[in-house]
Amino acid sequence: MAEYQIQTRCVQAGYTPKNGEPRVLPISQSTTYQYDSSAHLADLFDLKVPGDMYTRISNPTTNAVEAKIASLEGGVGALCTASGQSAIMIALLNIAKQGDNFVSVSTIYGGTINLFAVTLARYGIEVRFVEPGASAGEIEAQIDERTRAIYGETIANPALTVLDFDKFAGVAKKHGIPFIVDNTFATPIFCRPFEHGADIVIHSTSKYMDGHATVLGGVIVDSGKFRWDNGKFPELTQPDESYHGVVYTRDFGDAAYITKARVQLMRDIGATPSPMSSFLLNMNLETLHLRMPRHAENALKVAQFLAGCDQISWVNYPKLPSSPDYALAERYLPDGACGVVSYGIKGGREAAMRFMDALKLARIVVHVADARTSVLHPASTTHRQLTDQQLVEAGITPDLIRMSVGIEHVDDIIADIQQALQAL
Ligand SMILES: *Cc1c(COP(=O)(O)O)cnc(C)c1O
Repeated sequence: MAEYQIQTRCVQAGYTPKNGEPRVLPISQSTTYQYDSSAHLADLFDLKVPGDMYTRISNPTTNAVEAKIASLEGGVGALCTASGQSAIMIALLNIAKQGDNFVSVSTIYGGTINLFAVTLARYGIEVRFVEPGASAGEIEAQIDERTRAIYGETIANPALTVLDFDKFAGVAKKHGIPFIVDNTFATPIFCRPFEHGADIVIHSTSKYMDGHATVLGGVIVDSGKFRWDNGKFPELTQPDESYHGVVYTRDFGDAAYITKARVQLMRDIGATPSPMSSFLLNMNLETLHLRMPRHAENALKVAQFLAGCDQISWVNYPKLPSSPDYALAERYLPDGACGVVSYGIKGGREAAMRFMDALKLARIVVHVADARTSVLHPASTTHRQLTDQQLVEAGITPDLIRMSVGIEHVDDIIADIQQALQAL
């Protein structure tokens, strides 16, 4: 499938039926699989032969979606998870243990900040935040011999800062640590982080990949390019006693990281998507290449409209020339960014809430990145657990409204904003 365009791969990659088999990816609603011999099952348990053992670890429907997403991102393999949060947790636990640390860009999703700063910290894995605009030297100052990764979001939710790939990838490479990128908002339609030096990509597939606000999910994609044998990642290069001495780099080559994430961490943690969820995700991915350009086009028009409104104090959208990250967006997101626009209303927090209540087409929801236009006030909702200092670091002001522009007709979306501003 690699020779086909990304649009074709959205539709067809991951599942190629044989003669007489269902044309559409079937839902393998089975936790279990049957074998002709005990010896075969024993070999499966020893990871000597590939195949499904138990749906906690793999399932044919989920395998197909994983192959599709790996193809879209240009990776060697992928692991679907029950949510974006579990993808991020497994991506890090796969290479970091108690006493280790990692560097993260500070403008990231609020749930990820809590996972890093509170939960992982409790297990002795320390996060060291750096600002997206930090210099290479400032990033390096946070790195020591126990640093195991650098983490950032292609387009930050909700700050909308654009990741400076060359800078972070350069530092990661110099220090022999993987660069992990959350590509949720851009999707592989607009950015393929592996082309810009990322080693591991994660997504909350609950957002644009599903795109209809129907299934929660996450995915980890392995570029297969990172060399783990530099002494920092013994869990990948030394025998795993829980599999009779399997050595992931020796036995699985380029797919060492993603294989370990599946057979060790997914086995033990069990944050597995259901086959039904994988079926829905696969179906919705078929139209990702149609939906993303419409989201991006509508969002740019909404951003341009807002920029001309007296009642709006500021607008942030990476593809607006006034955006501080416009140059980065032009470089890494040449064809479009995402559907999310953030802006502030004159009158601050209180006016923001009244404006949102007056919207009719756009509804107040926690979610972003689906077909329907929606709004959220992060400071009082998704990011309310953050301290004022963390809010500033995450790029969120009290008046910030996050609008997830859908794929309706843009004139209707703009008319809705207009009538809500008039009602103020
Ligand atoms: C929503 C989101 C997550 C968390 O994903 P869930 O599927 O909600 O667990 C992680 N990263 C980003 C950028 C997100 O927008």
